[in-house]
Amino acid sequence: MEYRILGNTGLSVSEVGIGGIPIQRADAITACQLLARASELGVNFIDTARAYSVSEEYLGQALEGLRDRFVLATKSGAKTKEDMSRDIRISLQNLRTDYIDLYQLHNPNEAGLEQILAPGGALEALLEAKEAGVIGHIGITLHSKELFQKALELSWVETVMFPYNIVETQGEELIARCKEKNIGFICMKPLAGGALDDAQLAMRFLAVNDNISVVIPGMASLQELEQNIVSYSNKEPLTMEEQNRIAAVRKELGTNFCRRCNYCAPCTAGISIYSVFLMEGYFTRYNLQEWARGRYEALGKTAIDCIGCGVCETRCPYDLPIRDMMKKAVQVFGK
Ligand code: SF4
Ligand code: SF4
Repeated sequence: MEYRILGNTGLSVSEVGIGGIPIQRADAITACQLLARASELGVNFIDTARAYSVSEEYLGQALEGLRDRFVLATKSGAKTKEDMSRDIRISLQNLRTDYIDLYQLHNPNEAGLEQILAPGGALEALLEAKEAGVIGHIGITLHSKELFQKALELSWVETVMFPYNIVETQGEELIARCKEKNIGFICMKPLAGGALDDAQLAMRFLAVNDNISVVIPGMASLQELEQNIVSYSNKEPLTMEEQNRIAAVRKELGTNFCRRCNYCAPCTAGISIYSVFLMEGYFTRYNLQEWARGRYEALGKTAIDCIGCGVCETRCPYDLPIRDMMKKAVQVFGK
């Protein structure tokens, strides 16, 4: 395992860390096994969030006896000082620690960021917690390029987390600016939220970019953990054959695909929006028609139940035409 310095935090982090989203789908025992093996392999960075249901709690259990081997990052979508203070307390409790290395603002939009920065906003709570030694550093996670640009001008931002992968390269120049400004860059969504099925190629694409401080693929099994580390260890320039495969993936996926972030929820009609698109992807891209149809039908509410209210589209950070995509899913599955 190689280590990189996480910008001006000065923290030495393994180039591959653990993204905490899939831990929700696992269980506490799997989380314990994952962290124990990760530590053996030299992984020392974990990222989770208040919003990832049981992820903080499972990780807290798994960190018993291992806490000092990891740089621990979490985040909250709180906008006010009061809410952020409460969330920091809950994170500490869930993670069973008295210190969190990095606490991040979780994907605010423009209005949210204004509220965070205003008197009585969440930043005050983070600065106080840092002053009190409860958190070590302050970062921000974003999906909007405009806000990424803005974040680079905010003096208190020590790390930025942003999606970057084969089909989402819109932040590439800003990622390079992070390095110039000595701001740590945490690469999220290396597999485009599961849309990239060739994990090895996806990790190779990232491994050759040394502007990335740490990449955090979501992992919930030992096999995924080991595979990701092996793929990332190859720093040779991309071969022509790999470049051709990357071009083919880009051509196939384009940019209008769902990253499964679930920010569009809740759907007015009770549809699990990302599940609809996930099953449609399995059906159309991966030649798993019967398997995908069975799971699609088991969802209960499906694309046919969409009433076209459009609320979800106002929440999707990728501006996806969700209503049109629902219509396409109806065409694919017939319901
Ligand atoms: S437009 Fe359709 S998918 Fe979106 S929130 Fe409304 S009902 Fe749900
Ligand atoms: S539709 Fe948009 S907001 Fe909803 S899960 Fe997909 S990418 Fe995320």
